[in-house]
Parts: sequence; C-alpha cells; structure tokens
Amino acid sequence: MLGIPSENSDLAKWRGFYRDNKYPELAETSVIPSKVVDDCGTLKFLLKLSDGLETESVILPIDGFKKKRHTLCVSSQVGCAMGCTFCQTAKLGLLRNLTTAEIVAQWHAAFHALDTKIDNVVFMGMGEPLDNLDAVIPAIEILADNNGPGVASSRICVSTVGRLDGIKELAQLARTNGFKRLSLAFSINAPNDEIRKTIMPLARSVSMEQLREAILLYPRHDCGGVLAEYVLIPGVNDSEGHALELCKYLKPIGCNLNLIPYNPIENNPWEAPSEESIERFIEVAKSTGQFVHRRITLGKDAMAACGQLGNKSLDQPCIVSR
Ligand code: SF4
Repeated sequence: MLGIPSENSDLAKWRGFYRDNKYPELAETSVIPSKVVDDCGTLKFLLKLSDGLETESVILPIDGFKKKRHTLCVSSQVGCAMGCTFCQTAKLGLLRNLTTAEIVAQWHAAFHALDTKIDNVVFMGMGEPLDNLDAVIPAIEILADNNGPGVASSRICVSTVGRLDGIKELAQLARTNGFKRLSLAFSINAPNDEIRKTIMPLARSVSMEQLREAILLYPRHDCGGVLAEYVLIPGVNDSEGHALELCKYLKPIGCNLNLIPYNPIENNPWEAPSEESIERFIEVAKSTGQFVHRRITLGKDAMAACGQLGNKSLDQPCIVSR
C-alpha cells in the first residue's frame, strides 16, 4: 500500500514527506517498489497499488556534459485506451487512471527507495497523460514544488498522441508563472494521415493538420517547449520519401524530432529497423534542415524501452528484488 497522500490539497503538510521521506503522523510512509528490473543501469520498477494493479516506471541514465543525469519515465494510467499498434501497453487496454498520489509515488520511489537523483521527469510511460489531466496537472504541480521534489518545470515533459482538448488545457498551465517551460511532446509516428491511421486509431478522428494547429498554439520558449516523437517502423514509415514528407509537415512547427527505433514486442510483425535504415532516415531528415535526435535504445532486455511497458514482467519474477 502506498503511504502517500491521496490528493495535494494539503501539499505544504506533505512537503517533508516528498523531500525528506519523513512524515511523523504516519507510521508507514515508505513507497517501496514491488519489483525492480536492472538492465545495464536502466531500472524498471513496479509499484503495487491498493487494488492490486501495478504502475510501471523506468529510470534512464543519460551521460550528460559533466555528469550522469537520470530521467524518470512515469506512467499516468494502468494500461492505455489509445490502441497504438506498435505499443505493448495498448495490448492491456485501459485498466484505470492513476491518481495524483500514484503518479508522484513513482518519483518518491525512484528518489528515496532507489536512491536516484531525478533530473528530468517525462510522462511517457503507460497511458495517455492528457486523458487523465485531473490527476496529471496536480502531479506536475507537486513535482515542480521547490520545497518538495523540486523538479524544475523545464525538466518535465508530457507526451501525447494528439488529444486536442488536453493540449489546450496543458497549454493553459504552460502559460502560468512557474510552469512556462513545461514541455509537450507529440507522438506523430507517420508522415501522413493514411499511414498514421494504420498504426494509431486516434488518427481516424484527429487529422495531422488538426494536431499541428493545436501544437502551434502551445506556448514556446527559447529552449524548445515542443518536441515531435517518431517511432521508426521498418516497412511502415521508414523510407526516404517518408522522411521528406515528415519534415515538410514539421517545418511550420520548428521543433526537434526525436527518432525512436521501433522496439520489437510480442505478437507484432515488425523487426527492429536496421542501422542503415535509421542512419538513412536521419540523414535525409537533416538534409532538409530538420534537427533530429536519435533516442538511445536503453532497457530492451528489461522490456523497459519505449512502447514496451505493460508487458509480461507484470506477472514474471523480477531479475532484481529490493
Ligand atoms: S504509444 Fe502511448 S498512447 Fe499509444 S497505446 Fe502506447 S501508451 Fe498508449
């Protein structure tokens, strides 16, 4: 059971708990992962919830300029309703939304139980965060509290497949003092609507043009603010023509492109893309002037890489227990 507040109405009272793991009125205040899987430094951990379901989170170590940094990828739901065909989480369907406390508990477990200083928090774990904004926005407020977890809002990023109303609501928060550098990532994953509809059911009701209009209204700052994500799937969206079409679409937005080589999952037809096809796609995109960042694929063995959460490790024994 998570010894953590169920809402943030008494945030000040709980600051000591978040910051120092101390809360005198409760005997049991620890948030201990039920399982931890360590894959060469990438930690995937599960937290057992009061109803028996589990959250999945990943701590990714990234070599920074002077020191190692840690990004915590948090879940906002157990499972997901969006049904993206390249994603393991989609296979669970949506089991339920996480509460604010259950989201912040993932940071608490990473920081206190797993003793890891968290530099960045990304809402890119299980779930579509913009479908659960009632819990996600208060969680962001708690995470960014200087007297609590103290993760700068410029180091928090929320990812969406394209929930238009949610983008508008998050944009309101990103116009508020203290949250003006909150980042938004959008999973585009296709160069056109035709392909997008085959891998992302949401694309049947939200066109790429509508998504671009919503993204263009999201407040920007000098460090970026908006990021496009693209899972590169062999034979689906990885040709030179696709790269050119994608960059043309992204040009008016003027954002970075985060390229994520597809991570194979069970019962899916696709292999991982070859190194040559990844390099070729990046080269073509760069030739248009598009800034491209290749996401390092970490945690494949632990099934902790992008699109792999919500997998068999939920019912398998862990590799490392703490
Ligand atoms: S990619 Fe994201 S939005 Fe799509 S099914 Fe997976 S978790 Fe949900």
